[in-house]
Amino acid sequence: MIAAPPLKDLPDVEHGFGARDDGAWLEPASHAWLKQVHSARVLRCRAPGEQGEADALITTTPDLWISIRTADCLPILIADPSARIVAAVHAGWRGTAAGIVSHTVQQMVALGAEPSSLVAAIGPGIAYCCFEVGPEVSPHFGAEGRTCVDLAEANERQLLDAGLDLDRIWVCKLCTKCNPGQFYSFRRDGEAAGRMVSAIRII
Ligand SMILES: [Zn+2]
Repeated sequence: MIAAPPLKDLPDVEHGFGARDDGAWLEPASHAWLKQVHSARVLRCRAPGEQGEADALITTTPDLWISIRTADCLPILIADPSARIVAAVHAGWRGTAAGIVSHTVQQMVALGAEPSSLVAAIGPGIAYCCFEVGPEVSPHFGAEGRTCVDLAEANERQLLDAGLDLDRIWVCKLCTKCNPGQFYSFRRDGEAAGRMVSAIRII
């Protein structure tokens, strides 16, 4: 399990970015999850169980874990400890291009969060070294042709544009494809790849 320093130090917030050895570390009755569809759709939840088709969850409900499953896409966890709001985001290239992190912060603010109070952590995903994309994807990231894309940087930029302080954003930087001992990777392992579970809750 990987913990992000700025989230770990917050009062009343618990979180973890699962690695491959962590398996399904949450009890089904303790967490809410999504049918992830690479969208920019954000859902608020109040109870455990599957919440429907979307790629980000927000909750203000104490003790309810909200979880995201990934294997190359980025798991992003966000908290406002004073407003007692947390979010979990699944950001692949489609969700990133559609601004899922921006939409999530907007909805947290609509519930009473302050952008300057938010702390965000971008977990392990496929990094620039391995995320080569074709000409159908690169224009979404200001590039053209076959090139590498830095998904973490694109999401960090969305967080900064949403008003978060740079020193309240943590980026894991570990590449899922480069580290087979630690992580599952869809690009490396294909359809057989497992999924890592990352989650956050307010207590
Ligand atoms: Zn890599």
